[in-house]
Amino acid sequence: MPYPTLSIDLDVIESNTRNMVAACQAHGVKPVGVTKLLLGSPEVAQAMIDGGIEILGDARLMNLARYQDLAAEKMLIRLPSFSEVDKVIALTDISLNSESSVLCALSEAAVKANKIHRVVLMHDLGDLREGCFDESETLWLAELVQSLPNLELIGVGSNLACYGGVAPSAENQNQLVAIAEKIESKFGLKLSVISGASSAGLDLMLAGEMPSQVNQLRLGASLIMGIGLNDEPVPTTQQNAIHLEAELIEIKQKPSVPVNSTALDAFGNTPEFIDKGIRCRGLCAIGRQDVELEQLIPTDSHISVVGGSSDHLIVDLTDCSHEYHVGDRLTFDLGYGGVLQCATSEFVHKAYVRAKA
Ligand SMILES: *Cc1c(COP(=O)(O)O)cnc(C)c1O
Repeated sequence: MPYPTLSIDLDVIESNTRNMVAACQAHGVKPVGVTKLLLGSPEVAQAMIDGGIEILGDARLMNLARYQDLAAEKMLIRLPSFSEVDKVIALTDISLNSESSVLCALSEAAVKANKIHRVVLMHDLGDLREGCFDESETLWLAELVQSLPNLELIGVGSNLACYGGVAPSAENQNQLVAIAEKIESKFGLKLSVISGASSAGLDLMLAGEMPSQVNQLRLGASLIMGIGLNDEPVPTTQQNAIHLEAELIEIKQKPSVPVNSTALDAFGNTPEFIDKGIRCRGLCAIGRQDVELEQLIPTDSHISVVGGSSDHLIVDLTDCSHEYHVGDRLTFDLGYGGVLQCATSEFVHKAYVRAKA
């Protein structure tokens, strides 16, 4: 097997999905399975379907294009770009929207393709990423969508805990429900979707404090990594679906302080060092081109990450009880950003495993 490798356990993802689908069902919520963390991997999307997901969502059309043939509805969860409306219509059934000009273009593209496209209007509840902040604008967009041919208004949504650190709460979720109810009464229609939040909303739901009208959550991190708000573990999920393996290409005894350090490092920073004497240092074939080294948590707790450069990772092996050799692989846990970066690096091989969760 080539290294470095991002190992992805499909059994764990399927089991996490099954448990979250069941937990959501108990609260009247149907989750969307969000695939962007692993770039719309068809294997992962299928594991989500096997776990009970009926709608797959991704922020990027290139990712959605990877699993067109899978038996699930497709949702674009980043606002469509004006430049890609034809592809949005071709590749997805539903999109999240907040701009009138894009909605008009989507309608035109849907007419051209002779398709009906479903629209969820995004309202900003204070996290200050996407969505109308002004309630009257959301109501106006609801009216607009109904007037546009081949678009169907199916609901409202909001995103939280992504930019502004605003946690989903009964209060802000109720605000979204109130907007949905205003749209329903003003236009005499029934919205089928109130899409409250991401995995960050699971705590509120599991605590029984999510308003009962909220019937959709868009779940990515919780299904794949078993984490939710503040990256905390989500009950009944496992956090061990993904790890990184990198190969040792050198092991040498070296001083811990460079000899006559005066220059900047490869990234223009002035390096600083603590003198720990002579140490056993290992070099791994992975670097900052693949992943921020701060993201790497060695599973052997006696190993510490010393630093590295674009193509190299330097670790300290001095305190290990296990004797490592060149050619051995070191295993690392990763944070959300680390998984995303490794998934994105074409130098990191992806291995799908089924270890029976
Ligand atoms: C990424 C994203 C999600 C999923 O977030 P997780 O934290 O991975 O569950 C949901 N909705 C939107 C709009 C997103 O961008």
